[in-house]
Amino acid sequence: MSNMSEPATIKLKPGKEKIFQRRHPWIYSGALQSSSDAIQPGETVRIIDHHGGFQAWAAFSPHSQIRARVWSWDESEVIAPDLFKERIQNALYLRQNLIESGVTDAYRIIHGESDGLPGLIVDSYKQVLIVQVLSAGIEFWRNEIAEILVDLLGPEVIYERSDAEVRKLEGLEPRTGLIYGVEPDELLIHENGARFLVDIREGHKTGFYLDQRVNRSIIRRLAANRDVLDCFSYTGGFAVNAVLGNASTVTAVEISESTIEIAWANCRLNQIEPESITWANQDVFQFLRTERDRGNQYDLIILDPPKFAPTASHVKKAARGYKDINLQALKLLRPGGLLATFSCSGGLKPDLFQKIVADAALDANANGKIIQWLHQSEDHPVALSFPEGEYLKGLIVQKV
Ligand code: SAH
Repeated sequence: MSNMSEPATIKLKPGKEKIFQRRHPWIYSGALQSSSDAIQPGETVRIIDHHGGFQAWAAFSPHSQIRARVWSWDESEVIAPDLFKERIQNALYLRQNLIESGVTDAYRIIHGESDGLPGLIVDSYKQVLIVQVLSAGIEFWRNEIAEILVDLLGPEVIYERSDAEVRKLEGLEPRTGLIYGVEPDELLIHENGARFLVDIREGHKTGFYLDQRVNRSIIRRLAANRDVLDCFSYTGGFAVNAVLGNASTVTAVEISESTIEIAWANCRLNQIEPESITWANQDVFQFLRTERDRGNQYDLIILDPPKFAPTASHVKKAARGYKDINLQALKLLRPGGLLATFSCSGGLKPDLFQKIVADAALDANANGKIIQWLHQSEDHPVALSFPEGEYLKGLIVQKV
């Protein structure tokens, strides 16, 4: 089927056109009447209401519960590379302040739905672009999008990291590897005057937690003269910032030995003796309990666990995990100490996360005050019509 053929039409069930009033880009399978088997994954479809009126152009995804993702609510729009180019240009424009500020040379250029490109992630690490294709619609236009990225951004390298779990929900196989240019040996980025190594092949997400940039700078500011515990430290983003912020002591807990090796390299890159941080290559759940038995205490504890709830259906189990680590951490805090606690689970809403932390405080027999709400960095915007775009949330709680 060519990109130029007349788009197939899919009808909504009666009343379901209401979902378009809020401009949310996802159309669940239950909203649609049956559709023809001939429609290819990712193909553009015309969505009509049951009276036949136009509602949207969308990318069809036959294997996903999110059966279609909207490209446009405007009938006159042509779903073709020029539209993607315009959206990528707009996304770049939105990041211009950050790019020109010199704060970092690593940032997210495209944040999926919130940038009008459902399922596309593009992160820029200096001259290297890392792309994640997470929906059937983006998969369909992958080559055209890669060409646009080359034209607009002139990167040396485009590398694909389409190995996120959510691809399975779209019926897509994982895929990683070079799309354009020559694979770089080593990638070094700058962030707020610090330097970090990025492992684009094996690193988490696209190699670095760009979404935590703003929060790493907050931790640097809060760390002075405090005993800091960085739980789930990955390649040491928070731990290094705590040292740079003149923490009294820094302890970092991380289960993966290979990421600790990168963390050591990151220390050296920032003129920090790796031995000046106490590294615990351990499970955080166990570590927090052992620390309690030892009677160790801290003034600032960071909890930045992996996604316990990838989708809304995992929330209940995830809630137990979040509660447990927050409870244990609150017990280890000295009075007046600070807990910087995060959840990057898209399926867990901010108000529920706050409640989990509140419950943890009750069980820890501690009082706390929220002194700051934390969010993903500015290059991960959230479209007002797509609240799911806000996946990373955090609280700084002071134990009183
Ligand atoms: N704070 C980091 C990102 C943390 S990602 C930054 O800003 O860069 C979460 C990390 O937790 C991963 O490195 C993962 O290997 C680690 N991890 C997952 N489960 C763990 C566990 N039970 N105990 C310790 N570390 C764990």
